[in-house]
Amino acid sequence: MLPRRAAAYAADMGDVIERSCEALDGSMRRALELAWESACAGSLGVGAVVSQADGAEVATGRNRLFEHDPGDDVLAGSSLAHAELNVLAKLPIGHHEDDELVLHTTLQPCIQCLAAIRLSPVRRVRMLAPDPIMRGVERIEGVNAFVARRWPQIEQVAITEWSVLALLLPTHAVVLRSILLDEWSRRLPIVTDTARRMVGSGLVVEQASAGADIVTFASSVWSQLSECVHEVQALSEVHE
Ligand SMILES: [Zn+2]
Repeated sequence: MLPRRAAAYAADMGDVIERSCEALDGSMRRALELAWESACAGSLGVGAVVSQADGAEVATGRNRLFEHDPGDDVLAGSSLAHAELNVLAKLPIGHHEDDELVLHTTLQPCIQCLAAIRLSPVRRVRMLAPDPIMRGVERIEGVNAFVARRWPQIEQVAITEWSVLALLLPTHAVVLRSILLDEWSRRLPIVTDTARRMVGSGLVVEQASAGADIVTFASSVWSQLSECVHEVQALSEVHE
């Protein structure tokens, strides 16, 4: 049994984490769950949800880069198997043209996903974390008038421990597979060190095997996530 002071601290932290989780909207929470599912399955750990403007879920998708079975998604086991492409692939062409569709993603869309979003019915993107190797990619909008037309509005949500977690999962995956890019670790040295320690301790693999959910996992590493918030905040302010 925990000493009284430690038990009170744990209860306080539980409240902090719960309130922080509730501050995310429902679609982003669902995207985070999908990111955790992706990480547990050995892929990059990114999730995406398309919803209507009122929050009603339309479709979900997750990264399946290192899996062979697409499950309820379309793409798996290729460089195309990104969360955003998997959710966009479920939107019937023309069907939602009049809706105000919003895509929620745990990581800033990469160059291929941004192009796919432009050609989709989605008009608004909300992202939980910036991508260190894709800063400035949204300037593709200015390439010509056609591309600029119906260009999606892209919004970075407030940076919190959940944004750190959204970056920690893919960082952990690439450290585990020894495919970490220098550009990534240079922009995120503290997140990278944290991921390296977790690869060393086997914590993520252990919790994934035990069937932990993402809130349980986040709770077990919350103080480490808090130490990285300023680094992710600084990255979000880089506009190249
Ligand atoms: Zn992508």
